[in-house]
Amino acid sequence: MNISVIGTGYVGLVTGVCFAKFGNKIICVDIDQDKIDKINNGIPPIYEDGLKELLIENQSLIEATENIKSAIIKSDITFICVGTPSKKTGEIDLTFVLDVAKTIAKIIKEKDGWQLIVVKSTVLPGTTKDTILPIIEKYSQKKVGKDFGLAMNPEFLREGIAVNDFLNPDRIVIGTIDERSKEILKKLYKDFSCPIVETTLSAAEMIKYASNCMLATKISFINEIGNFCKKLEIDAYDVAEGMGLDKRIGRAFLDSGIGWGGSCFPKDLDAISAWSKEKNYDSKIIDSVIYVNDKQPLKLNEILKKHMPSLKGKKIGILGLAFKPDTDDIRESRTIPIIKQLLKEDAIIKVYDPKAMENFRKLFPDIIYCKTADEALESDAILITTKWEEFKKLNYKGKIVIDGRRLLEAKKARIYEGVCW
Ligand code: NAD
Repeated sequence: MNISVIGTGYVGLVTGVCFAKFGNKIICVDIDQDKIDKINNGIPPIYEDGLKELLIENQSLIEATENIKSAIIKSDITFICVGTPSKKTGEIDLTFVLDVAKTIAKIIKEKDGWQLIVVKSTVLPGTTKDTILPIIEKYSQKKVGKDFGLAMNPEFLREGIAVNDFLNPDRIVIGTIDERSKEILKKLYKDFSCPIVETTLSAAEMIKYASNCMLATKISFINEIGNFCKKLEIDAYDVAEGMGLDKRIGRAFLDSGIGWGGSCFPKDLDAISAWSKEKNYDSKIIDSVIYVNDKQPLKLNEILKKHMPSLKGKKIGILGLAFKPDTDDIRESRTIPIIKQLLKEDAIIKVYDPKAMENFRKLFPDIIYCKTADEALESDAILITTKWEEFKKLNYKGKIVIDGRRLLEAKKARIYEGVCW
């Protein structure tokens, strides 16, 4: 199939490259010329395990361009994969998605033939049917089902293992209003062995939000249990093992620590919380999940202060800037509020991360960026904020280590304390 992918960030690029693996011809569209040049030269603009190899292997099937018009003309299916960030108020910002929908509509107005438009960006329930569809019909002067198809196909990949997640999903959700769109998408996904959930546009959108809310809830819940455990000198991980063996609960997402970050959970929970207020619904559970998560990283600072009451002029080594291991993404990283608080107390911050230093430097240009993890260890105290494999091999002997991510190897430190254990 000939596919155009609009927006080549984590989701768009991985989607394009993975569909190319199955022999589809892909045109990646972005407004960022640097990304386009990199993709055309076989260099992924983001770090994802296995992405570079797959991009190079399928280079003959992948083209990147700024020209959305030619991409739509040359393709039968168009995936919308642009960002849906949060506004300052927490509400979802649909500017990119709606701009792209309008542009696509104007192009298909002039194009002969049937185009399938697939929304892959995460949008609130009702958006595709009530906002995107009317825009496309208005600007294309065409009718859904008859002249073009529309689908909502949420993405569940996790950064760091995005390629593997895309190729081996637990399920594929296809929301449609017309039969033809559904059949085309089922054909596109025919080589995937997981269940396919066929549903409406709005249910597909809700499945994505409900899934992210559930996962974030599990983490905030275990962090609250972990905070109790800490007071009672119970190991929260023993509790998680015991709970996780219950098949109704499961062990996944029960690792207590300093909370969730990244590009999805924070903005998706903020969006649904703001949306529920707009709908006059009091989303108590989701709001509490956000509340617990906001407080959790600063527990690490509190524990540090127990061992070092004044931080003025003290060198604090931070191991981990990415919001989780195996990614260079620092969006909503839990390290950010920790460093802000340390700076308020005049500490000297020495940081190290195997992949995320360049991204972090844009946020905090004036802290010390160490060339190696060992260099960051040369500090008065160490905070572990991301669980990178590399940090397991360090020599913590003689150090003061406050651990936010359960790195048991660091227990050899002179003073070791975990956030929930
Ligand atoms: P991203 O910010 O990494 O990438 C978005 C890309 O869109 C950027 O490269 C940007 O330059 C490009 N863009 C913006 N406007 C454009 C336009 N008019 N034309 C062409 N390109 C344009 O975003 P992402 O992380 O890939 O997320 C995309 C969507 O997928 C979001 O809705 C997100 O919530 C959802 N999602 C993300 C993940 C994830 O782990 N990152 C997982 C599942 C779903």
